[in-house]
Amino acid sequence: MSDHRIAPAAGPGEAGHVRGFWQGLGLPGLVDVHTHFMPERVLRKVWAYFDALGPLTGGVEWPITYRQEEDERAALLRDFGVRAFTAMLYPHKPGMARWLNDWAVDFARRTPDCLHTSTLFPEPGVETYVREAVEAGARVFKAHVQVGAYDPADELLDGAWGLLADAGVPVVIHCGSGPAPGKHTGPEPIARVLARHPRLRLVVAHMGMPEYEDFLDLAERYEEVRLDTTMAFTDFSERLAPFPRRALPRLAGLGDRVLLGTDFPNIPYPYLHQLHALERLRLGEAWLRGVCHDNAARLFALPGA
Ligand SMILES: [Zn+2]
Repeated sequence: MSDHRIAPAAGPGEAGHVRGFWQGLGLPGLVDVHTHFMPERVLRKVWAYFDALGPLTGGVEWPITYRQEEDERAALLRDFGVRAFTAMLYPHKPGMARWLNDWAVDFARRTPDCLHTSTLFPEPGVETYVREAVEAGARVFKAHVQVGAYDPADELLDGAWGLLADAGVPVVIHCGSGPAPGKHTGPEPIARVLARHPRLRLVVAHMGMPEYEDFLDLAERYEEVRLDTTMAFTDFSERLAPFPRRALPRLAGLGDRVLLGTDFPNIPYPYLHQLHALERLRLGEAWLRGVCHDNAARLFALPGA
């Protein structure tokens, strides 16, 4: 039995509360740049990993709140009023990215409110399949330095980064050392990537947790670097890796480059909690409007942005 791992029910009333949140800000909805959709058997493995408290969870109890079927999960995001979301998927070994990308093409086709997402891995041929993905309409890429266990500055990726920088396609990259460090996590390898590709539109996932301030340094230095809020500022993350209060003014200063991300559905608390965690930073309604909708709407040129 694993009942003890089931998070408190997000509840049937949650959608109304989420909608109330963005309506109260005068927004047309939310844009969530960090949600996970992937081939069903891969997602089941990810969930099994969280259930077993695999080493990359940092050994922390991690109950998945939204363990529904794929169509129900997408429908729930729509009920929440998420206008656009992503299908963050990532390989943990060579020879897998192309297959994931093929799946993502099909997913984007049957899910018009999902921003067509692709991924990559340092391997021969990566530049070719990245080009093909961009030509096929990929709007965003996902890279996972911790799970992939590769150096993002690996020479094999150089052509792909250059291509993505030229195309202006954002790359959401899990490169911070939370919840558990990897051999190549942390700001230093990313600094090397940006030194070579200063126009690359990296979106640092999880605000770079726990190396928040180092990644803020990079965002302040490179104007195309952005940060996503995924799991940051929540009770769950504040216990493990608190965001330093002294850095709050820097968050305000980067207000047009912070993007809502949530990690839906793989989160150990209700979706609404991420929104409240942003609200309680007290950076103001204009900041929240940018973070929860306008910044990403502009980045992805959504209608009305
Ligand atoms: Zn994620």
